[in-house]
Amino acid sequence: MNYTDGKDILIFIEETNEELNDVSLELLSEARRLKNEFALTGDIIALYLSEHAKNIEKIYRYGAERILLAQDRKFSHYQTILYAQAIAEVIEQTHPDICLIGGSNIGRDLAPRVSAKVKTGLTADATHLSFDQESHQFLMTRPAFGGNINATIVCDSHAPKMATVRPNVFEKEVFNPKEKTPTKISINAIYETKIQLIDETKKTTNHQDIAKAKIVVSGGRGVSGCFHMLDDVAKSLKGEVGASRAVVDQGIAYKNMQVGQTGKTIRPTIYLACGISGAIQHTAGMDKSELIIAINTDEKAPIFDVADLGIVGDAKEILPLLYQRLQQNSVIKKSA
Ligand SMILES: Cc1cc2nc3c(=O)[nH]c(=O)nc-3n(C[C@H](O)[C@H](O)[C@H](O)COP(=O)(O)OP(=O)(O)OC[C@H]3O[C@@H](n4cnc5c(N)ncnc54)[C@H](O)[C@@H]3O)c2cc1C
Repeated sequence: MNYTDGKDILIFIEETNEELNDVSLELLSEARRLKNEFALTGDIIALYLSEHAKNIEKIYRYGAERILLAQDRKFSHYQTILYAQAIAEVIEQTHPDICLIGGSNIGRDLAPRVSAKVKTGLTADATHLSFDQESHQFLMTRPAFGGNINATIVCDSHAPKMATVRPNVFEKEVFNPKEKTPTKISINAIYETKIQLIDETKKTTNHQDIAKAKIVVSGGRGVSGCFHMLDDVAKSLKGEVGASRAVVDQGIAYKNMQVGQTGKTIRPTIYLACGISGAIQHTAGMDKSELIIAINTDEKAPIFDVADLGIVGDAKEILPLLYQRLQQNSVIKKSA
């Protein structure tokens, strides 16, 4: 018997204002990798609900083998009940073995409703997907008990096996698509909402999302009194400031800056951890960064176990020196 018994993997494609959410592309790429590793015979199917369907080519490029496209004005913007009905309708008609949804704000709102409609289980916030070599069960792993253990969940008596998956835990990969034309489907679901979208105003900020930043300078309780130093260094490096939960709880940093299990999962090119102990709940959100540099006064701090470069010292003394050096370098560069 094949791992998925020849059935398909269905992935919900999340689109807002005609822009795809990266997590959908990460899921497509990961499904392709699973297909290759376990020689799955079903297809990787993208379910694309959209008004203008402008992202077909991109969806194929990141791993979809087939696209089910429901192009309709009613999908001009996300509506919980309509989208949940639509996905459930497609699942009931196509019987995929696995259904994956990004663990974004939309995905977290949507997936439990879909799973309840199709009467299956849901693994929320998975961070690893695989198959058991012997039983061929689909394995969905997520942190449990405060992140102290990883729980692997199987759903053996209901279908499809459903999971939401954290953004940024899988890498996007470009494939060479064979197919170019989506299969058009129509969705019967209608939801007469009393909510009317009159206008949308985009939040403007000088900061980029830490999940997209190439350099993140992060601070914990050890630097709680001097976050301005992190700001200075981050600005000089064109990076962003991140934080541990301890300082978010203290009200020193905003929640959207929190890195970790209950914050964001990020994988920047450089992650500079200052005064952060390196609790597992924190490292779960940053241990895939390309280069991790840690500054901590305690040489036994667990952050050094994941760091590529460790500096034992007082971050309050080191950060101003680093800033000074960065400023000197930029003066040298400008005058060169
Ligand atoms: C269910 C659950 C979910 C959680 N989710 C998250 C999460 O998403 N993200 C997260 O971060 N945490 C999370 N936590 C909390 C986590 O367990 C830790 O408590 C938290 O990460 C600790 O933050 P910290 O490292 O800033 O503080 P501390 O643990 O207090 O560490 C401070 C560090 O700073 C060092 N230090 C002190 N002074 C200096 C100085 N002058 N210079 C340099 N170093 C100095 C100390 O040696 C120490 O290592 C979660 C916990 C639970 C139970």
